[in-house]
Amino acid sequence: MSVEHIISLAILKKKMVFDMGHCDSCSIAHKCKPQILKNYEEATYILSAMENEAEIKLEDVCFIKETQNKESDRRDFFNSITLGNVAKGKHAFEAEVKKATDELVEHTLQKEDIALLKKKRVPEKRKLFFTAIKRVSKPSQFHIVDANEVTFTSQKLLNEDSCTACQMCYRICPTGALTSDIKNSKIDFDPFLCIKCSICHDVCEPDAITLSSSYNVKEFFEPAVQNLVSFKVRRCDECNVIFSTNSNDKMCYRCKAEDEEARSLWGITEDM
Ligand code: SF4
Ligand code: SF4
Repeated sequence: MSVEHIISLAILKKKMVFDMGHCDSCSIAHKCKPQILKNYEEATYILSAMENEAEIKLEDVCFIKETQNKESDRRDFFNSITLGNVAKGKHAFEAEVKKATDELVEHTLQKEDIALLKKKRVPEKRKLFFTAIKRVSKPSQFHIVDANEVTFTSQKLLNEDSCTACQMCYRICPTGALTSDIKNSKIDFDPFLCIKCSICHDVCEPDAITLSSSYNVKEFFEPAVQNLVSFKVRRCDECNVIFSTNSNDKMCYRCKAEDEEARSLWGITEDM
């Protein structure tokens, strides 16, 4: 279960118990348990920053489905914990979440919200999160949390001086959190759609795009698209195409690269 699933279900159910009672006898607990604890801590941290009273607990309940024939049930349970079954369980869980999310989205959100979700490539868990948030009241104040403690979304900063307007970040962003317009004259960022996958950081050669060290929970309740940078749009002196830039370049990115390559091949310096 992701942090978004845990927060959403805690909000919707008001109380949630993680049954850790089987962990000590489970062969894959050394892999799963640290992640469960990490996700539990992050979800609890975010819920308190949201001033939400939903309760999440870790308990050693050791729940067994059937009360009769406990011994054989317990054996069956542990025998069934293989990686294959975990994968099947995850798949079934995701299918259930999708079904529940679709129903919730339909009954909770306004038409405009649904249209927005349909337009973007938003993961199911983010839709569920968005829907759950719509059901709770806003906190008395919007708290700022430590961004290092938030794994599922982020706030971005952009250094206008080093950005080369190469378009890579918003073209590759898988959720549409980073976007531009038809003229490529800007970069906009929607923190609510960001899944903190870091792809935009990896492709940005000059490291112009960075993570903010803080995150305002306001983005959960009043998501707003932010303009990170605006570019000049002009026509290339060389090939006549329209291009965007944040410098006084008169040539597009491609012509400039070709020009630099030709100059270096022929040993032509700037002063010549
Ligand atoms: S932020 Fe980086 S990847 Fe995005 S347009 Fe600017 S230089 Fe390119
Ligand atoms: S980390 Fe970057 S690429 Fe990934 S979703 Fe967020 S904005 Fe998009």
